[in-house]
Amino acid sequence: MRKRIIAAAASAVLLLLAVPASAAAPTPGAPGIGDPYYPTYGNGGYDVSHYDLRLKYQPATDLLEGTATILATATQDLSRFDLDFALDVSEVLVNGRPARFAADGVQELVVTPAAPLPKGSAVTVVVRYSGTPSEVSRYGFTAWHRTPDGAVAADEPESAWWWFPSNDHPADKATFDVSVLVPEGTQAISNGVLTSQSSQRGWTRYNWRENKPQATYLATLAVGRFDLTTGTSAGGVPVINAYSKDLGDNDGAARASVERTGEIVDWLSGIFGPYPFSSVGGYVPNVPTHYALETQTRVFYSPAQFAGGANTSVVVHELAHQWYGDSVSLERWSDIWLNEGFARYAQWLWSEHEGEGTAQELADYVYASHPADDPFWQVEPGDPGADDPFALAVYDRGALAVQQLRGAVGDEAFFRILRAWPTEHRYGNATVAQFQALAERISGKPLGPLLQTWLYTPGKPAGPAPAALRQPHSWQQIEATGEHGSRAGSHADSRAGTRVGGQLGASQ
Ligand SMILES: [Zn+2]
Repeated sequence: MRKRIIAAAASAVLLLLAVPASAAAPTPGAPGIGDPYYPTYGNGGYDVSHYDLRLKYQPATDLLEGTATILATATQDLSRFDLDFALDVSEVLVNGRPARFAADGVQELVVTPAAPLPKGSAVTVVVRYSGTPSEVSRYGFTAWHRTPDGAVAADEPESAWWWFPSNDHPADKATFDVSVLVPEGTQAISNGVLTSQSSQRGWTRYNWRENKPQATYLATLAVGRFDLTTGTSAGGVPVINAYSKDLGDNDGAARASVERTGEIVDWLSGIFGPYPFSSVGGYVPNVPTHYALETQTRVFYSPAQFAGGANTSVVVHELAHQWYGDSVSLERWSDIWLNEGFARYAQWLWSEHEGEGTAQELADYVYASHPADDPFWQVEPGDPGADDPFALAVYDRGALAVQQLRGAVGDEAFFRILRAWPTEHRYGNATVAQFQALAERISGKPLGPLLQTWLYTPGKPAGPAPAALRQPHSWQQIEATGEHGSRAGSHADSRAGTRVGGQLGASQ
């Protein structure tokens, strides 16, 4: 080597060749995190630990201005990396130094730091941006919903692109500080705890903190004129709810549902184990959408969810997600059954608790109400496909699979499994295969064939001869729980009524 270095001393280029072979050249981070359904969602090469979002929002014009400070660790020697974002960026700094940046594809922001980032090193990224999110369309929709007095960001899987740059995939969770400046008299609602607020010169700043790991799609922001209610559940969980001051005829039913959050989170804690977060609640903005979403600690409810009267069942569903979906997040979007099958099943347990139909009666009803030629049975809840991960079958056939599991292992093992899963995987990510392993370990029974039949095999599984179709009393509230976001709405505008093509209608 010595001889070679001397020979090459005149050439800086050749000198570089003398770098030991173990130091591989830095390479670009992948433009996606590796999700088979959504290959460009999330990114490779780094892992985010914290988002600090400092925002200013003007309801009159829908102008959002922000500075995002992202704390991350490089997971490879990085020459450049991507963020996922759709608003206009004016400046990017990496470790305090200006970085080159360029928009690419549908939602990629490609960032090239002034110097490569060594594997394992701490990285601080600052992104300054602005935009009118309601005018930014991706895949034909915006997940940013304007209201008469503000706006809301709440959608799944796409939501973050319209208000902050991120590694937009549940596989990279992080803590959040969200600080929002809005005109005085207007409120800003986000996840976690309101740590402080202050007003001066006609503007009010709200500082929210979510101190537990949170998936990017579970981060939410609402600006508008809200009534806030606060309290503490009997079990000791702080509750913060918010209602638009303009809910009209839905106001009473919304409050009669969401004000039971504390009671319901305590009831769920008795099934799933201690509540994993430091606050809980929901908010009901004056949006024209029809769905609800399990945004972490602060559930999003469309007023339409209460158009038929109070609905505690949807509250149960979204709060069940705090364990199944939020604390334990899916590793890949194909694992969506771990979220929706169990949140739906929690509604069945609530029905049983309320004396409005047992889980078995609901299972019998779902099974009998879909004839064998119903497209419902062609959806595999364990792998529903990228086009419609929120198909009705993921919920209802998904809950049927949970009931089959209960029958196979018996109540004692079943409820131990329900509690062990969010305990053993708290704040992490997990897969259906890991769930099967846990359930087999606890029950001592092989469950592969059962899950294969109910989660991964198209067609109606063999079952008992059809009995008389008896609809449990809780059915209407369960069926009214809609979760289709903007993605589905964007290509099915006519779906305002009930089911369309076996999908879960928005508000039924
Ligand atoms: Zn759900």
